[in-house]
Amino acid sequence: MPDQPNGQIFSLARQVASAANGKMGDMSNARSSYEAAEVEASRQGAWAERDAFATPAPAAGQRAVYIKPSSPFTSGKLHMGHVRDYAIGDAYARFRRARGDAVLFGFGFDAFGLPAEMAAIERKVPPAEWVEACGERMLEQMVRLGFSFDYERVFYSSDEAQYRWSQWLFVTLLEAGLIYRDDTTVDWCDHCRTTLAALQVEDGRCWRCHNEVRLIRRATWFLRITPYLEENDARLPELEENWDEISLSTQRYILGRSDGVEVDLGSAEAPLTAFTPHPDAVAAASFVLLSPRHPDLETWATEPAVREQLDELRSGGWERSARDAKSVPLIDTGASVSAPWSGAELPLLVSPLVDARYGPTAALGIPEADEADATIAARAQRVGERPARGAGSGAPETRPTVRYRAADFSISRQRFWGTPIPVIHCEGCGAVPVPAEDLPVVLPRDVEPTGEGNPLAERADFVEVACPSCGGPARRETDTLDCHFDALWLWVPSAVPPTERAESMFTHPDLRHWLPSERLVAGSDSGGFVFDQRVVTKALRDIGPFAFLEHGEPFSGCLFHEMVIADGRKMSKHLGNVVDPDELVEQYGADTVRLAILYAAGPAKTLNWNDGALRFASRFLRSVWAYSQQRFGAVGDAPEDAEAAADTEFMRERLRKWCDNGLERITVGLEELQMHTAVRDVTRLFERIQDFEKRVIQRRGELSRADAEAQVAALILLARTLSPFAPHAAEALLLAAGEEDGSELLGPWPGELVLPGLSAGAQAAGA
Ligand SMILES: [Zn+2]
Ligand SMILES: [Zn+2]
Repeated sequence: MPDQPNGQIFSLARQVASAANGKMGDMSNARSSYEAAEVEASRQGAWAERDAFATPAPAAGQRAVYIKPSSPFTSGKLHMGHVRDYAIGDAYARFRRARGDAVLFGFGFDAFGLPAEMAAIERKVPPAEWVEACGERMLEQMVRLGFSFDYERVFYSSDEAQYRWSQWLFVTLLEAGLIYRDDTTVDWCDHCRTTLAALQVEDGRCWRCHNEVRLIRRATWFLRITPYLEENDARLPELEENWDEISLSTQRYILGRSDGVEVDLGSAEAPLTAFTPHPDAVAAASFVLLSPRHPDLETWATEPAVREQLDELRSGGWERSARDAKSVPLIDTGASVSAPWSGAELPLLVSPLVDARYGPTAALGIPEADEADATIAARAQRVGERPARGAGSGAPETRPTVRYRAADFSISRQRFWGTPIPVIHCEGCGAVPVPAEDLPVVLPRDVEPTGEGNPLAERADFVEVACPSCGGPARRETDTLDCHFDALWLWVPSAVPPTERAESMFTHPDLRHWLPSERLVAGSDSGGFVFDQRVVTKALRDIGPFAFLEHGEPFSGCLFHEMVIADGRKMSKHLGNVVDPDELVEQYGADTVRLAILYAAGPAKTLNWNDGALRFASRFLRSVWAYSQQRFGAVGDAPEDAEAAADTEFMRERLRKWCDNGLERITVGLEELQMHTAVRDVTRLFERIQDFEKRVIQRRGELSRADAEAQVAALILLARTLSPFAPHAAEALLLAAGEEDGSELLGPWPGELVLPGLSAGAQAAGA
């Protein structure tokens, strides 16, 4: 006999025997018609009663697996993209539990932010109320779909207990020099007296009052990510094993790495280092292009007229202006630097084109080698088309180097519904962080924003405060944090028991076994979040709390899936092609919807929803249900017939091979989160089991007891492999086969199948 997990053999044998003894085999009790709503309500009741998905404390030697689904915005309604995300994550969570791992499957709502604020303004309710109602509604939908989250661990980023830690993170990063204040350009509506986000500007007009908006410069807070770009890049190869291709390629895209060389230009008094991705063409450079964010720009842009142009460029919102070389803003500083290889003077120009290509740096302009540079050269009066000529002609000294396009970004917004920034502005002391013992800075709950003005700035009880440093009169910061900042650590709280979050959110001992998360399952548009989470994890490692995360990676595995569309187009109310998960669940049941969405497409493909997959899944579940129930009930009636059993032994042996083969494929599909292939293999396994019966009947006219028991064992295996995808129906079938209700239903994941009624010789021959 090959090595077999004994538990598996005995468990199957016991089940078959009990079925054969007629315990559950009473045909009058067998249900042949599949009533999804009834089955699902019954299983969900059983799970809730025994708290089946509470996060366990991992036992010694047990693997701790934290599966992190995407954090939904509190929109009030799950859409099909959510269902896809959670159906993949849930199948994986159930599979890992069945395998004997300790599984944490938890999430929180990304509840702050503009969409919630706008929805609350429309409905004239405080955002806090709106968000709570939305969250409750979405949780009901998740429970109805049978997602096995640890619901006790669900949190809202807008809860005081939660955003207190966003504020702690802000202060911690500020003190580490990773947050700073700088000017940025924002849209402003004079009528509403407020700044506007991009999605609040429609054709240059305010979403609320339809007046024209204008751009203003104002001070905001920035997150410094540049110190970690190199490490985020260097660690990508380590992630290749458990990160899928989409998630890796979005990380590479966000980094925007360019390989090339740098050269030293200018003089000892005013040095300038310039980059080019064209190492062989350095001597052909005819100008230098500077980013408007280059740290030494002020050294070169000294002429008042040039300064004026720069101010105009910055207040003109170049972040949003055209990025192609033909129309991108371009300023000539009038200054030049000398090229050491020729002594020639290279004109210094300024353009955000540099940022779009290499980040806030300086780049050599080489029209000969670079099409965009040629376009810029043609636009600039001082630049010739040939390499700048000077007295000498020495070979340039270059150093190989790398530039990244990814850049620091603004994290503060002039808006109400967000985490208050824990800073106090004092005339004497400047910007003073709120001391840790005074956190949280509480966001007033009773405000009904109207979209006009800045509600926080208008509340004297919020704004007026004593300076924590000198005690003098001071003002609170009235910007709030963008919800992107809350998201930087939204993967942490689930790993801490709710009652202990207030004390030890970032220091709880449980973090050490749950982090890094074994698998993030998220939409393919989450790359930016994930990139910045990877930066902040490294920062917290270096600062101290996450020192145990040696690589500074929040996720050791990652699966990005594409979205769900309908009729070949993005779902939208406007197009009238929105598919409502509630309606589908009502009509077909949760298992069918889950099975269909998993079966319809692999995660890397956009899922163009159609009813075909739904009808297929519905037919399949009904068919497995009726077929299995009937066979479980009839096994006791199959005649004991040694001669017949010997005659069909080779067929049972073939069934066993089919089962082992199918099981192996399904297991690999689940391990790799390729649920569509795993589901397909489950359906094939069912076909094989049906085929076995047909062939035995062709040969013998009926199934002997040995055949019937083998078939039942195969059907039990089928139900086990179905349970990650359609857990309600699968568990009900296991119960019908004689399994006891309880936590054992969650596992074990089957090993090789050992069929009763096969002689040891046949088992060994087949192994
Ligand atoms: Zn307005
Ligand atoms: Zn002060």
